[in-house]
Parts: sequence; C-alpha cells; structure tokens
Amino acid sequence: MEGQRTPIESGCPDGFQYMHPVMRKNYGDWAYHEDPRPGVLKHTARGGDAIYTVRAGTQRILDVFTLRKLCEIGDEYADGYIRFTIRSNIEYIVTDEAKVQPLIDALTKEGFVVGGTKNSVTSLSHTQGWLHCDIPGTDASGVVKSMMDELVDEFTAWNMPNRVHITTSCCQINCGGQGDIAINVQHTKPPKINHDLVSNVCERPSVVARCPVAAIRPAMVNGKPSLEVDEKKCICCGACFPPCPPMQINDAEHTKLAIWVGGNHSNARGKPTFQKLVAAGIPNNPPRWPEANAIVKRILKAYKEGAKDWERINDWIERIGWPRFFEVTNLPFTKYHVDTWRGARNSLNASTHIRF
Ligand code: SF4
Ligand code: SF4
Repeated sequence: MEGQRTPIESGCPDGFQYMHPVMRKNYGDWAYHEDPRPGVLKHTARGGDAIYTVRAGTQRILDVFTLRKLCEIGDEYADGYIRFTIRSNIEYIVTDEAKVQPLIDALTKEGFVVGGTKNSVTSLSHTQGWLHCDIPGTDASGVVKSMMDELVDEFTAWNMPNRVHITTSCCQINCGGQGDIAINVQHTKPPKINHDLVSNVCERPSVVARCPVAAIRPAMVNGKPSLEVDEKKCICCGACFPPCPPMQINDAEHTKLAIWVGGNHSNARGKPTFQKLVAAGIPNNPPRWPEANAIVKRILKAYKEGAKDWERINDWIERIGWPRFFEVTNLPFTKYHVDTWRGARNSLNASTHIRF
C-alpha cells in the first residue's frame, strides 16, 4: 500500500550460501565419517573429497567480542567457514589436514575447549532463560555453565559408553527437549495472583483456557475482574504464567529443579524414548547449583561404570531395570516417581514388563 513500507520477511536465511564450498559440492553425497581424535571429525565423500571439522564449546549466549574472536580464528587458521551446533558448539571446517592442529592450538590458547564428539559428554543444550523468554523459573545458562565447568574433562575425552546429551529447561512446560539427562524447573506451589494487575494485563479467557486441569476460574476480587485458582486441582505447571504474568508462580524457595533421564529423539537403534523423572525437589541454588551437579555426576559415574559399550543411558537402564538404576545411583525411589496421571494406564499397559 502506498506510504507503507514493504514488510521485511524474516526467518532462517538459506544455509547453503554459508556452507564451505566442499560441503556444498558434496551435499547428500558423503560416504562415511571417522573420528581422528576428540573434537575432530573427518567426513569423506563418495567422490573422494574429505573435510575435517573441529568442534569447540562456547557459552551459547555470546558477547560480540567473543564472537569476533572466534571468527578471527576461523579466518586465520581455518577456511573462513563456521557453523554452530544445536548445543552451542562452534565448528570450523577445513579441507587440509595440516590446518587441524594449528587451529586446535589457536582455540586452546584463547581459552576455548575442543571436544564434544563421539562418546563424550557434549555441551549441555539450554533454553533461552531470562534473556529472551518471559516464563523462566531460573536461568538455564547458569546451570549449564556450572555443570560444564564440572564436566569439562568428559567433554574433551571419549570416556563414556556412548554420547551423552544433557539438556536444561528453565520452565516446566516448553522447550528443553529429550535428553539422556535433563535438568528441568519444577514448581511446587500454585501461582499467587496479583489481583491488582490481572484486569490491566491479562486476557482472562485465554488464561482460563490455558490451564490443563481447568483449575482457573474468573472471579471478582475487591470489585475488579480477576481470577481464582482451585489449589486442589492445580498441578503447579506454570502454563498460566506466560499469558498472565500476575499469576506469579516463580518463587526463590518453592521453584525447584528436577532431573529426568533416558530421553532420546533418535530412532537409530530403537524407538525414541521419553525421559523419566528420577530426582525431584532439588534446590534451585545459584550460582553453582551444587546439589543438582552432584546428582548428575552420580548418574554419569554409574552409567560409565555399568553400561556396555555403545549403550545410551536409556538402553543401559532398560537392560538393568529401574530398581537397579535407583540402587546404583543411590537415588531415593519415592511414591512420587510413580506415574499416577489418569491416562498412565495406557502407557503402563503397553509394556509386557509389568509384573503384579
Ligand atoms: S524452557 Fe520455558 S522458560 Fe525457558 S526459554 Fe523455553 S519456554 Fe522459556
Ligand atoms: S499452574 Fe498450571 S495447573 Fe496451576 S493454575 Fe496455572 S495453568 Fe493451571
């Protein structure tokens, strides 16, 4: 329309323009890959071309100075092409094997850690936290930083039976994904409503519709339209908080962390699996989260000692059984671990392993 500017379409640009030319040329035509050393991959194409990928961990939420530094290293020591993995690792692609070691040396000299391939613990993936999102109960990047500091030796070596993907999420309902180990926020009390703000800020029907257990009702409070929560029904999920911030559920004491294990998106060897809760009510204790860290390390130690080569965490638990998992990790098994959701009968009955 006249006088109005054309909308700028946003979204992902075409990735091919940023690809290393050898990757572009051989797209879809790779024959096999090898792992020459931790943090380095070698891919060979059917036509004989080969590329080396050097992977280093980053803190994901990158300041511009670090990003420039990483790019300078790419220009000077690699072929000028980088990409980021979903787990915030940077990858440099080179075609000349002789460039690999100087590139690793340059990264190491600047304090970056090379690793995260094959049977290592790669960087924890984390959700946006307070930087971009309006519903976090914690800052996922802080949990990630404290955990990766403790697990850095597992990032740089191939010590694990298979790769370990750890994920974090800063609310209880949205991103976070399936991980071999997942550290998720857990709210333990219903939201406390700031009635003065509800009528100014919230669309009450959307908030009512948002609740998965129909615990929210419209109500008049002090002569103003507001909401009320049936606390007996509320499952403390936090889904009402994004459309209505006055439904205050975040709480320094009652917002905890929970640890889940055995999630796997992949269907390479078996079906994808859901993660299952193994520890709850863990203090959300910044800046180093020692309690959550200790449990993750205990699970990793038991997995490293007990799993067979190439078993992922879910395969290992499937083989030894959940009772044995709780024994070897020394985690308490409580009645809260039993799925009492009314639809659980379907999933429980789907297994032939149920014994009465
Ligand atoms: S996990 Fe939840 S709070 Fe964190 S970024 Fe995703 S939606 Fe937002
Ligand atoms: S926390 Fe979840 S269950 Fe409780 S009132 Fe809000 S949306 Fe409903």
